[in-house]
Amino acid sequence: MNHRGPEFAALIKRVTEGLKWVFGVSSDVLALTASGTGGLEAAVVNTLSPGDRVLAVSIGVFGNRLASIAETYGADVVRYEVEWGSAADVDEITRRLDADPSFKAVLVTHNETSTGITNPLEAIGAVVRERPPLLIVDGVSSVSSIPCPAERWGIDVLVSGSQKGWMVPPGLAFLWLSERAWEASKKATMPRFYLDLQRARTSLESAQTPWTPAMSIFYGLDRALQSLRAEGLENVYSRHRDVAQFTRERVRAMGLELLANDERFSSDTVTAVRWPEDVDGLAIARLAREEFGVVLGGGQQGLRGKIFRVGHMGYFTQEDVAEALDIVERLLVENSAKSLPS
Ligand SMILES: *Cc1c(COP(=O)(O)O)cnc(C)c1O
Repeated sequence: MNHRGPEFAALIKRVTEGLKWVFGVSSDVLALTASGTGGLEAAVVNTLSPGDRVLAVSIGVFGNRLASIAETYGADVVRYEVEWGSAADVDEITRRLDADPSFKAVLVTHNETSTGITNPLEAIGAVVRERPPLLIVDGVSSVSSIPCPAERWGIDVLVSGSQKGWMVPPGLAFLWLSERAWEASKKATMPRFYLDLQRARTSLESAQTPWTPAMSIFYGLDRALQSLRAEGLENVYSRHRDVAQFTRERVRAMGLELLANDERFSSDTVTAVRWPEDVDGLAIARLAREEFGVVLGGGQQGLRGKIFRVGHMGYFTQEDVAEALDIVERLLVENSAKSLPS
């Protein structure tokens, strides 16, 4: 298929309408051929200039990544780091913004996939929208699974990625910019070429992308958007909420502890669970994979071997999660029994 021909034009128009619907916005959402990180990089380099002071709110691996991207391009990054397993404190963000009026942007992860925590983004948006900084949000593992209406919540840049709740193979990043963010992009001097969003916006006016798009993934997205429409977004959100709650209850019934310090901020798309102190979690995860074909998400960086993560985002049922947790329980029982002195 010619990616500059009429069939692709029809496809990208249809998909763009679907993306706008899920993002909760009235202007176009761009689909870039890139992973989620490429989308985050695009968000930074199109809105900021070297030397700009930025408040990077980090509650885990992905918050740190967004901060690092901004640092790499020369932003003056001030980090507000929160203990892993907790959400960001809205009052602390307010205090920091009020103490230093020079901030140009606030970087926030909506759903921190490494810890299973969802930040109180609506409240953060209410604080930032009344002030000059742009609110740049990593919604890679939330948008399409957890409500995140960009316009209503005062978000300026919202990024997501195809392989998470969108139920699509990896390879597309989705980005939406507010009018305020497009204005900022005209003055932003961080270097960009492939990720230049102004080019993507101009191409989209003629139903094209500036560079050759990953067309097969656009087909997948088109199909996935049909599924989301058939189910209805509210139903999609409540399915995630319900299964997340089921997961937490089942985990507690097994005598295990959640990483989340405060259940109000537990994620609806991923649950992080502490391995018991006396158990070799990496060994249990290996048995689960080799003997039962169940792949448990591991802990990243400082959490390696300390937690496992259960993904419940996108295309799944409660039965899938129940089956996986039954196997974890069985392996835990068998392995603690084996380690008892005979
Ligand atoms: C997966 C993920 C990313 C990065 O995505 P890649 O597609 O691997 O580049 C960024 N942020 C969050 C919150 C994620 O879950």
